[in-house]
Amino acid sequence: MEGVKGLDKGKFKRVIKDYRELAADEIEMEKHVGDKLTGPRPEMDGKLELSHMIDPKRPFFTSMTSSDEKYVSTFRMGHFNTPKILSDSVRGANYVGGMEFGSNIIKQNLVNDFDDLVSFLLDYKFGILDLVDEQEINGKNILDLRVYECIECACLPNLGKPTCIFEAGMITGILTEMTKKDVSAKEVRCWTNGYSFCQFEVTLE
Ligand SMILES: [Zn+2]
Repeated sequence: MEGVKGLDKGKFKRVIKDYRELAADEIEMEKHVGDKLTGPRPEMDGKLELSHMIDPKRPFFTSMTSSDEKYVSTFRMGHFNTPKILSDSVRGANYVGGMEFGSNIIKQNLVNDFDDLVSFLLDYKFGILDLVDEQEINGKNILDLRVYECIECACLPNLGKPTCIFEAGMITGILTEMTKKDVSAKEVRCWTNGYSFCQFEVTLE
């Protein structure tokens, strides 16, 4: 966790533990509607407004910096063009952009290993990265990778599907460059399908 100034490791561990418990509770309450997963927060009626996107309360990041909600709002203002933000073409472009960015983080030595990556994502306020599980199934490695207090989606309403396409691309780019394997990352749970965390199913082969 070096590189993140002033980080209290004990406090950080408690934050991770609390989020894992919250996630377990929410997964227990989730529903499958057709092939769609939906978390405990009901799907919103109407349209996403600017007021939904700005000034989110991110407890951990707020405890680190006083103006966290302003920083996150600025990041999101460039994205405020719904419904285009959820259209397929924008999603594809975001994924590829994220991959390119993620791959460059490694190529340019901003991040050298997984601990570095956790620090990088905290430092730049993307979110709190947590590798919850890693399994080998049929020669493939499957990771359960989560992001808490995500800059993209924390506190957004349930819009019926996950939103963090750029981040999924970024994870893909980073892990492809780190491992030289074929990687794909798919977000399965997100604030925008009713949860309070982001969860990516990552496959490495
Ligand atoms: Zn998300």
